[in-house]
Amino acid sequence: ASAMREIFLETPKVYWADIGGQEEMKQKLKEAVEWPLTHPESFSRLGITPPRGILLYGPPGCSKTLTAKALATEAGLNFLAVKGPEIFNKYVGESERSIREIFRKARNASPSIIFFDEIDALSVARGHGESGGDRVLTSLLNEMDGIESMGNVMVLAATNRPEIIDPALLRPGRIDRMLYVGPPDLEARKKILEVRFRHMSIGLDVDIMNLAVQTDGCSGAEIVALCQEAGLQAMNEDIDSPCIAQSHFNKALKGLNKSITPEMVR
Ligand code: ATP
Repeated sequence: ASAMREIFLETPKVYWADIGGQEEMKQKLKEAVEWPLTHPESFSRLGITPPRGILLYGPPGCSKTLTAKALATEAGLNFLAVKGPEIFNKYVGESERSIREIFRKARNASPSIIFFDEIDALSVARGHGESGGDRVLTSLLNEMDGIESMGNVMVLAATNRPEIIDPALLRPGRIDRMLYVGPPDLEARKKILEVRFRHMSIGLDVDIMNLAVQTDGCSGAEIVALCQEAGLQAMNEDIDSPCIAQSHFNKALKGLNKSITPEMVR
């Protein structure tokens, strides 16, 4: 029995418009992923190769996963998602088999994206002298080195700790591009609230701009948590509450978590 859950092909339904801000990052991803698909002849004419792998790095809860999904949706690519820690398990050889299996599925489903979330888990295992970590990394590198011959499979990896990624993974021809996915600015925070509010029952007195201002220092995930908390506040007051009012947000704001520090903002 495998300790890792089955890898399923997903069809995300996330669009660029669902992601607030991050304009430069979106543009760079479009170039790196869409151009090779739509203009392969330009790459061969100019004698350059499209990137095979891109590393998204930045603080937790700031849309790396969302970005990978939007890229797949918008470029019409199949999407396979794997979390780094899930690749490890105690049976010798099983992790390598999982990696080969992921790439095999991706080839069968190409054009496709493999999204490796928490890719740093690989480096951690390696650094601790677990021989398994080495083997897993080696099989990942082998698969990546074979991508060219396998057609349109792109690897997207994500981490909060780019400094611990094994340099072997970042060599040319592997995950050789790094894109910073930073915390949401004012516009992005407003957007996150707007996207969220579409699925919520929000009172007319709720001042979205004010909430965007007050959530300075929050990650996207923390803004989502604030909305949840405001909903619970409304229910606390009246379990039959028809909507969430500004007063509920005000109460929720008192316990607001802010994990973004100034040095994370670029
Ligand atoms: P982690 O490092 O914890 O895996 P992540 O960077 O992958 O986090 P996501 O899972 O993509 O972050 O984001 C968490 C949630 O925050 C998303 O589901 C989304 O609701 C919201 N979010 C974050 N940033 C944005 C943004 N710029 N626009 C819209 N929603 C956002």
